[in-house]
Amino acid sequence: MHMVGKRVRTRFAPSPTGYLHVGGLRTALYNYLFAKKMNGDFIIRIEDTDQSRKVEGAQQNLIKTLEWAGLLPDESPVHGGNFGPYLQSDRLELYAGYCRQLLEEGNAYYCFATSEELEENRQLQMKQGLQPKYNRKWLPEDMGGSMPRSESEKMLASGAPYVIRMKVPDYVSVWFEDIIRGPIEFDSATIDDQVLMKSDGFPTYHFASVIDDHLMEFTHIIRGEEWLPSMPKHLLLYEFFGWEPPKFAHLPLLLNPDRSKLSKRQGDVAVEDYIQKGYSKEAIINFIALLGWNEGEGCEQEVYSMEQLIEKFSLERVGKAGSIFTLDKLNWLEKQYIKNRPAEKIIDTIRPLLQNELSLKETMLEREVITSDAYLRQVIELMRERVGFEHEFVTFSSYFFFEPDAWEEEAVKKRWTPDTNALLSEFLPTLEVLPEFTSEAIEAALKAFVEPKGLKAAVLIHPLRILASGVSFGPSLYHMLEVLGREAVLRRIRKGMECITVPA
Ligand code: GLU
Repeated sequence: MHMVGKRVRTRFAPSPTGYLHVGGLRTALYNYLFAKKMNGDFIIRIEDTDQSRKVEGAQQNLIKTLEWAGLLPDESPVHGGNFGPYLQSDRLELYAGYCRQLLEEGNAYYCFATSEELEENRQLQMKQGLQPKYNRKWLPEDMGGSMPRSESEKMLASGAPYVIRMKVPDYVSVWFEDIIRGPIEFDSATIDDQVLMKSDGFPTYHFASVIDDHLMEFTHIIRGEEWLPSMPKHLLLYEFFGWEPPKFAHLPLLLNPDRSKLSKRQGDVAVEDYIQKGYSKEAIINFIALLGWNEGEGCEQEVYSMEQLIEKFSLERVGKAGSIFTLDKLNWLEKQYIKNRPAEKIIDTIRPLLQNELSLKETMLEREVITSDAYLRQVIELMRERVGFEHEFVTFSSYFFFEPDAWEEEAVKKRWTPDTNALLSEFLPTLEVLPEFTSEAIEAALKAFVEPKGLKAAVLIHPLRILASGVSFGPSLYHMLEVLGREAVLRRIRKGMECITVPA
């Protein structure tokens, strides 16, 4: 057997109405993964036919965020391509031409209903318990309606505002097979005479997207479940034009943990918010990929690189049920990535953060330390299991970079006895002369110091930690002191002992 197939082409078609929603990123990602897996093309088309909802800068922002995530388009309004323009407002003449064809062939008609009239009609139908639908007042007689053609022509000549509607054929059933959901059938009696052209001369989403999906030769339309009810209108348009429809896959909804539709009220929904909080693109992509897709029953793997996702992704393994958006999972993934990320990469992220912190501090004390890779590497290895975000290497353990000038008051109260300072003063010379300032040597020296006195190591461990770092929590004390280095440690202990008010 042999098969010749079309090159796979998928698209992400956002409207430039604001930020990129996490659901949008999921749609874009699945389109990207599927296209790349099939050695095909991933395209961005901007759907800006709703002029009232257009937001300045949104288009640039959407593309920038997608590129940040690594979803580089093969064609887009910015990158160009052979099927452009990729901005719908640059394609108005095309839509007008196809609309004329539908009018001429009796598949569309002018409608002069005012918005008040439409609203009245809607109210009436709802009162009667009917699903609101256009009442076809302006459907011409020769198309099965009751309005004389001449009336419609008169209105047109008078310059009255109008929309153009598609004429849904009576008594047909519209059927298609969704890749994720299987066969789905719609009854034409339930389908509204959809507006194709609005009174401002712009096409509706439904009309423009079908024309473009065909002209741009997309083979697979992968989009959110909310577009499923629009399928019959779209399929009828393919039918009117005699075009072969692409294949369709409608992705499950994203849900809040309480199974309601993912909404702003229960947390962030803009991808930018997550970027700003410090999540890495690897963790976000990994997390988003698993919102609806899994590799198969019994597969334990949860950490996937983009390359692995491309290799393993398939639409057949996307579920029908809504997927719950759980931050715990994203946080867990972020930690996995930090655990395994090469120190050099982390250094690239944290060095600018440190430099920024440094510029805010008055003291320049530890500038060399900040610029040394070797030092940063030690801090990273000591802290990588303890931080949740890369920026926490700086914020969570800033004492590695800046000498404390405050010491947790509660901790001092709890850990200092009237003897503590005397003990510290007695122990300091031991630290000064340790042949090697390693965690093992510090630990051994501290134990050798306290044991003959019948004391526990804790009597020094806690005060030393507070003096060296200013805080009462952190990694193993001995390792922390080793990384800080003898000079810094001694200086900090002396300074702290001077400044701390010891409880009487
Ligand atoms: N512009 C639509 C949206 O914002 C695209 C829907 C589709 O993919 O057909 O979701």
